[in-house]
Amino acid sequence: MNLNALAEQFGTPLYVYDQSALDHALDRYTQAFPEATLICYAVKANSNLSILRHFAQRGCGFDIVSGGELARVLAAGGDPAKTVFSGVGKSSDEIRFALSHQIKCFNVESLPELDRINTIAAETGCRAPVSLRINPDVDAQTHPYISTGLKENKFGIPMAQAEAAYQYADTLPHLNIIGIDCHIGSQLIDLSPLVEACERLLPLVERLQAQGITLQHIDLGGGIGIVYHNENTPDIAAYAAEVRRLLAPYSLQLILEPGRSLVGNAGVLLTRVEYVKQGDGKDFVITDAAMNDLLRPALYGAYHQIDNISAPEREARVADIVGPICETGDFLAQNRLIGAQAGDLLAVRSAGAYAASMASNYNSRPRAAEVLVDDTGAAKLIRRRETLAEMLANEHNLL
Ligand SMILES: *Cc1c(COP(=O)(O)O)cnc(C)c1O
Repeated sequence: MNLNALAEQFGTPLYVYDQSALDHALDRYTQAFPEATLICYAVKANSNLSILRHFAQRGCGFDIVSGGELARVLAAGGDPAKTVFSGVGKSSDEIRFALSHQIKCFNVESLPELDRINTIAAETGCRAPVSLRINPDVDAQTHPYISTGLKENKFGIPMAQAEAAYQYADTLPHLNIIGIDCHIGSQLIDLSPLVEACERLLPLVERLQAQGITLQHIDLGGGIGIVYHNENTPDIAAYAAEVRRLLAPYSLQLILEPGRSLVGNAGVLLTRVEYVKQGDGKDFVITDAAMNDLLRPALYGAYHQIDNISAPEREARVADIVGPICETGDFLAQNRLIGAQAGDLLAVRSAGAYAASMASNYNSRPRAAEVLVDDTGAAKLIRRRETLAEMLANEHNLL
């Protein structure tokens, strides 16, 4: 893949995705897990319609967290019957929208949400399929901002209240209880917390069964990490083997909700160096990409490998690689050894997940373009660069 040529053709900043890397990432799941497993790609990791369409064509379902994401799944030709709806704050409109398209399941995160879904299902004259998202209180040992399975996190129904929540759901006539789910965090390198979460849910499944509440599926969420820097590669096969062993005595369909691990390593963000400024003590490499294009370093202090791909031979110096945005937090990397001069092209690696999908217009910067390189090597523009006129289009001058 000639990234320099793509930057010339489409301009920068530019996200470039590699279709064969998407396939390779999905194959790791389909080979490791039983054939009946439903892989629900977590749309928020990268919600470009062409990416969604690709996964839909490969047989995936989707994990959505908003009505907007459902609209994307539908527009991409995804199957609502393979779509699960997660998130702590589903609005009435979103629930109505999802019911009207007969999604597979609502992953319910609280008792008031059970009531709301029941009421709306009653109005619509249907029974809503629900699973309860249980917070198993396991430590995913990841960054606090992407840890979701501890009792102090806002996500899920606490383990101690789970059984009573199912009993309550069972009293609501317009709900159809079909599953149980959890999602304990993101960017997990050691996958043993995922196994532990599964181990904690299964006794509950048995207790519910004894009370006549029979579940059809267990959804273990996403969270498997990728290599950004010098992490070990998470062992999906070993995780899958453990899950198979744990689920063997049950007749439960397995659902997974991977996001980052399907797209993260399949993308790069290309950015051009505008200036190199010699500061007092360190240099600043100022690029045309900024925190509005890649928020992860600013939000989580995340590490992305960055390579000079137009002039790799330059002598390296310690520098902060920063964008043009007026925020001290606007950096792509800090104290990084890099050789760069104005006009050079840099590749920010592992930018397939939580990069374009987190992009904003902050500082009135139009959103960057996205390109997918297919398995024949052909580059397809899958999102045009936003124009200034498009960026202003929704605003009115009322004065
Ligand atoms: C974000 C999210 C995922 C995907 O997480 P990854 O770490 O990207 O795999 C899955 N399920 C839920 C409920 C989520 O919120």
